[in-house]
Amino acid sequence: MRITVLAGGVGGSRFVRGVREECARRWPDGDGGTEASVTVVVNTGDDIWLSGVRLMPDFDSLLYSLAGVNDTERGWGRAGETERVSAELREWGVGWPWFTLGDLDLGTHLARTAWLREGLTVSQVAERLQRRWPLGVRLLPATDTEVDTQVRVADADGAGPETSAEREMHFQEWWTRYRATLPAIAFRQQHIDEARPAPGVVEAISDADLVLIAPSNPVVSIGTILAVPGMREALAATPAPIVGVSPIIGGKVVRGMADACLPAIGVETSAEAVGRHYGFRRDGGLLDAWLVDETDAAAAASLTAEGLPAASAPLWMHDLDRSAALAGAAMDLAAATRRTGD
Ligand code: GDP
Ligand code: CA
Repeated sequence: MRITVLAGGVGGSRFVRGVREECARRWPDGDGGTEASVTVVVNTGDDIWLSGVRLMPDFDSLLYSLAGVNDTERGWGRAGETERVSAELREWGVGWPWFTLGDLDLGTHLARTAWLREGLTVSQVAERLQRRWPLGVRLLPATDTEVDTQVRVADADGAGPETSAEREMHFQEWWTRYRATLPAIAFRQQHIDEARPAPGVVEAISDADLVLIAPSNPVVSIGTILAVPGMREALAATPAPIVGVSPIIGGKVVRGMADACLPAIGVETSAEAVGRHYGFRRDGGLLDAWLVDETDAAAAASLTAEGLPAASAPLWMHDLDRSAALAGAAMDLAAATRRTGD
């Protein structure tokens, strides 16, 4: 069984841990691991140069979480790290004062930057970073070139309602400094036209038995992956069923601020609207099937009535068991879709 997952950071990590666990249960290798192979195509739109180092927030979230070294209380960074270096950088006026990086996390950024300076590609660096821990899955950055997401916002200077100034800022500034409170007008991935899927990504999609779209931010996580030229073509061509999992439950984002992103692309914050936004493959869209929460069962029914396969299951990933059950529901939906679709 070869499974390829498209994922962002927080929702992505919880989901991929569930996929890994469910694979170990369904296809055990006798060693606590799995005979299935899981590849994760990771969003790189949040990446940024800051304080002289390259950050890859979603990649690192997945790396730390799958390695079990993440800080579960803060929700970001490494467990047990101090912030002495960040405090020192603040004294020097380097970086963003509102953006704290833990010391162990900074070690990752230094190592990554050193390797990039030696001439390694982003995916070669990603490969080296994940060699350190037995993750049980393979992480591939969506693309090797820098496609940092920029957000166009209204009145970014806080100059008051009488001005209608617009400006662009890096997604990370909008997200962490302004907590996504400045209304986003548009998202733009820089240099996206020149980007290509990183080595191994197209193969991971075309050779998969199943492709899963994690319950990640549809705009800045999944949207960025899909915007890489060649990605949609690979997804359209794969013989594998493609099943998406809704990041929206009962009209609300579960964790994160996707509701601040969806209006900018004209999509309502609902499981049904996001499913329709991804679209169904038979109409030229992305999905073969869409999984929504039990509380959104009516949305699943109305999509299915239109011939767009959808199902409902508990989508809250409160713990590993529930993440694994969710991954299992997505696998079962794929199998059912394949049977009825043929
Ligand atoms: P980010 O890169 O850190 O923003 O994380 P992602 O893009 O991977 O995921 C953010 C999305 O995950 C948010 O829109 C949430 O709605 C969604 N999410 C987080 N936790 C859960 C959960 O337990 N269940 C579901 N269905 N979605 C979740
Ligand atoms: Ca992210």
